[in-house]
Amino acid sequence: MQRYLCLLIVSLLFLSASGAWVAGRKVRVITTNTTLADFVKQVGGDRVTVESLAKGTQDLHYIEPRPSLVTKLRDADMLVINGLAFDIWIYPLIDSARNSKVVTGSVGFVDASMGVKPTEVPPGKVSMAQGEVHPLGNPHYLLDPVRAKQAVKNILDGLVRVSPADAATFRANYDKYIAALDRKIQEWQKLMSPHKGKPVVTYHRSWNYFLERWGLDYFGTIEPKPAIPPSSGHVTRLMQDMKARGVEVILKEPYFPNKFPQLIAQETGAKLLVLPEWVGGKEGLDSYIQLMDYLVKQVADALS
Ligand SMILES: [Zn+2]
Repeated sequence: MQRYLCLLIVSLLFLSASGAWVAGRKVRVITTNTTLADFVKQVGGDRVTVESLAKGTQDLHYIEPRPSLVTKLRDADMLVINGLAFDIWIYPLIDSARNSKVVTGSVGFVDASMGVKPTEVPPGKVSMAQGEVHPLGNPHYLLDPVRAKQAVKNILDGLVRVSPADAATFRANYDKYIAALDRKIQEWQKLMSPHKGKPVVTYHRSWNYFLERWGLDYFGTIEPKPAIPPSSGHVTRLMQDMKARGVEVILKEPYFPNKFPQLIAQETGAKLLVLPEWVGGKEGLDSYIQLMDYLVKQVADALS
């Protein structure tokens, strides 16, 4: 009897050490960005642990693939990526982690952009080698709360696949969160509605979905093309056009250079807003709803 008990304990220990499923254990989720991590938290509740590989203050286009990130992936049950080539740095990390649970196509792999129709898809075949950072179209869809709901749905489907025993909990959390987001979207629409049609200039093409959602007019970018630094000719033309149109607001994330945006703001009299793109990009913005509350209010105030 004692021998059998010993065997049982040893095999249980072996099971948990090998990472096999243990009843009651939380699903370990890794995301590439902090906004997706918040969505995982909302849907997964206390049945998950979640960590983002990029910080909310970082530019998701350029994350250094450090060994510590590989270690985090190695232990994950599920991986959620932004998709649309925003976080392509994840693929070499997936290869290095050798964790079959999170490789592309496995049940634990979630591309949050599935079902999101991108805008600005370049015609023909585009190579990242040509410096194109938006080769599959504009990947900044999480700044549109309506498109972001598709990401929440993709996360729900992923969690249900990985831990079917928790499906009812996940679905209830999802329904509650989507209802809360829908209420907020109405609030945000109302705040932005007096500003419909007003022109806004941005540094990078990160705010196009955001502006389009509230009926604002995306007027132009300080970068002539994504990730291509502005020339003085481009900036001069842009300033002339902005003055002619009466553009009042410029949007920029903290990690983009200040020089040209500041110069343009001074020359044209437009207000320069430095805004976070991600959850945690600024102190106190610890959830997507807090982030969007802040962004909508900042932009609406600047346009008032
Ligand atoms: Zn971009």
